[in-house]
Amino acid sequence: MATVEFRKLVKRYGAVEVVHGIDLAIADGEFIVLVGPSGCGKSTSLRMLAGLEDITSGEIRIDGRVVNEVEPRDRDIAMVFQDYALYPHMSVYENMAFSLQYRKVAKREIDRRVREAADVLGLEPYLKRRPKQLSGGQRQRVAMGRAIVRNPQVFLFDEPLSNLDAKLRGSMRVEMKKLHQRLGVTTVYVTHDQVEAMTLADRVVVMNGGHIEQIGTPDEVYHAPASLFVAGFIGAPTMNLIPATADEGRLRLGQSGEVVPLPPGRSGTGDLVFGLRPEDVEVAQGEPAPAGRIDVPALVEVVEPLGADTLVFTTVAGHAVAARVRPEIRPMPGETLKLRFNLERTHLFDAATGRAIGAPPAHGTARA
Ligand code: ADP
Ligand code: MG
Repeated sequence: MATVEFRKLVKRYGAVEVVHGIDLAIADGEFIVLVGPSGCGKSTSLRMLAGLEDITSGEIRIDGRVVNEVEPRDRDIAMVFQDYALYPHMSVYENMAFSLQYRKVAKREIDRRVREAADVLGLEPYLKRRPKQLSGGQRQRVAMGRAIVRNPQVFLFDEPLSNLDAKLRGSMRVEMKKLHQRLGVTTVYVTHDQVEAMTLADRVVVMNGGHIEQIGTPDEVYHAPASLFVAGFIGAPTMNLIPATADEGRLRLGQSGEVVPLPPGRSGTGDLVFGLRPEDVEVAQGEPAPAGRIDVPALVEVVEPLGADTLVFTTVAGHAVAARVRPEIRPMPGETLKLRFNLERTHLFDAATGRAIGAPPAHGTARA
């Protein structure tokens, strides 16, 4: 196991810079997920760590040692790709044994490691099969097995579950997590899927356009997003974001919308963005709004009954607002109702810079 560190890491392809000097320190045994939209530089960063791409400038350290000039095979890492890259003509056993044979590991040691990995991954019944005789999930496990047998200091994964259907993706996610809990190997995992990031990561690194927007635990990036980008990327449905103007402790939502008091302890002037998670919006049931809440008229557009709760998509003063409410609440599309905003959970962002303003709302408190 090992620590991993990026220092002012830059990647340029010709004149085009695609990774703009990122800094990241990964602890020994940590599971780090790089997440962000397609093209934001996740794979490029991972490939520089693997040694598959040159580093334009900056430094990568594995366990304190600068590896910029170290060959991929001497970095003591193992990478699992999206397409698995299994050898079609080899059995599962041979696919897993191959890299060890190549390294001239003793035959008995190879056998021990392959059988141990097969045991961890539930692959024993399939050791004699060829990749084409396996399901997608089994192939994925073989690709992981190939990484495990090498007993590397660091695991690298690039979108390893994207080729699986939704259900299998869910169960493989659980297996990935179990595997990490069992082996405890430092892991850097790349995905564009924020659910994967949130469920797997010890810490999430949210990337956008070759920059790091925020590094934090899943709780931190969800409850205290550092920017509009993170607020809009993490969570489904995403945070409700309404342009607002602040003046003398009050906030006007939208052009001509509701005026609400700034939440206690929050300040700001000029053009802001008001943010509220769907679970912090409820449907008012007639009784007056208690302190810290405000009722606003909303036009119901779409209702999604999800079983455990209902999603109500509305417009408030011309802006889309989603509410996650109790399952028995079923408004009709076209209906006007009052949504109740929990202002204590307000997020505020500077409209010009996109950065969060002030302390994030307290979290971890019970839902009202
Ligand atoms: P991600 O994995 O986050 O989707 P990538 O790291 O693959 O993104 O790509 C980041 C940016 O670098 C993209 O704009 C992509 O087009 C560009 N890029 C990636 N590989 C190359 C390459 N070999 N030559 C030129 N540009 C590249
Ligand atoms: Mg990629």
